Amino acid sequence: ESETAGIPRFDDLDLSPVMRRALKHAGFETPSPIQAQLIPLALEGEDVIGQARTGTGKTAAFAIPILEQLDPLEECRDPQAIIIVPTRELADQVGRETQRLAHGVPTEVAVLAGGKDIKRQLRQLENGVQIVVGTPGRLHDHLQRRSLRTNNVWCVVLDEADRMLDIGFRPQIERILRKCSKDRQTLLLSATLPPTVRKLAESYMHEPAVIDCCDKDIAVDTIEQRYFTVSHDKKLELLERLLERENPKQAIIFCRTKRGTDRLHRQLSRTYPACGSMHGDLAQRERDRVLQQLRDDKLQILVATDVVGRGIDISTISHIINYDMPQDCDDYVHRVGRTGRMGRDGIAFTFVVPGEGDNLTSIEQRINKQLKRDHFEGLDPPAT
Ligand code: ADP
Ligand code: MG
Repeated sequence: ESETAGIPRFDDLDLSPVMRRALKHAGFETPSPIQAQLIPLALEGEDVIGQARTGTGKTAAFAIPILEQLDPLEECRDPQAIIIVPTRELADQVGRETQRLAHGVPTEVAVLAGGKDIKRQLRQLENGVQIVVGTPGRLHDHLQRRSLRTNNVWCVVLDEADRMLDIGFRPQIERILRKCSKDRQTLLLSATLPPTVRKLAESYMHEPAVIDCCDKDIAVDTIEQRYFTVSHDKKLELLERLLERENPKQAIIFCRTKRGTDRLHRQLSRTYPACGSMHGDLAQRERDRVLQQLRDDKLQILVATDVVGRGIDISTISHIINYDMPQDCDDYVHRVGRTGRMGRDGIAFTFVVPGEGDNLTSIEQRINKQLKRDHFEGLDPPAT
């Protein structure tokens, strides 16, 4: 009778009363498809590969089963679960979301990300933690210092696995996986599953169940997607006119390089004081500050590299602008996925300069959808 209309409910997932209260407290009413499928398998101890669109609640999909099976700190002071994520910001975010879902149960979650005070991390590990969320580099560092003990780890999560491999973290990830017991559970999540990830899964997972919640339309369908053709020297002008027309609540503007990001940030700051920038060369403290400002609605515009393309969840972002074309189709899907979170509306614009037509076509093939052409009088490049 609970299966009415086939809509999954948290009540069908065999969760503890504490967890149900935490979910209510978080405002989660019904599980997303990836949650409905992944949680029961994970609670059974299965290895799972989960593929789902951006913004569909993958974090809670792995955090809920982990929290449900955690031994209390008094019984076990060494980490029981390690969640590996590609970026520092994502580590903070996943740490926060996990802590939030532990509502009402004292739970020690340590965020071990690079660029942060290692002494504090060492103290925290020494005092006992149950869940560790970290970036591959810093986790590996703690393994070598022997401050991160893996004897009691029964679950390892690889979040955004494709991204971590892309940025060259394979050796660190493999090292961490080899250090953890063979009997552990491994959960692997990503919006995209290229062959490199499948290979990692073959070597380190045990007969994983595969959940594919991506329909053919892998980009979220509540996001309207358009493109402009423009010549190089007219890009800034186009951007200014677009911002004026759209007057976005909050926008992320993606650039290809750190220098390009800085330059555009400087240019826009003249007209838009609530404009920030973010890329990998900024100090961690600055990166945290900028993200917090975005969350607190103190920034209207963030100019950024793909460092924020993955995973970052800020529900108020209304506009994505690809000032520079993304390097590949997966990057496009992830960038655009920063808006339209959990069914909200969003709009994404991509600037296409002469010679980039093929990139546009491959993006369209990837998302199985045609981008709508948009334009401003006088800003079209000469026809070729
Ligand atoms: P993904 O990792 O798939 O990109 P996230 O885990 O970052 O997505 O979740 C996106 C947003 O949706 C977060 O703000 C999260 O708190 C929220 N969320 C997750 N699950 C639910 C749910 N079942 N109901 C409502 N909101 C949810
Ligand atoms: Mg995620």
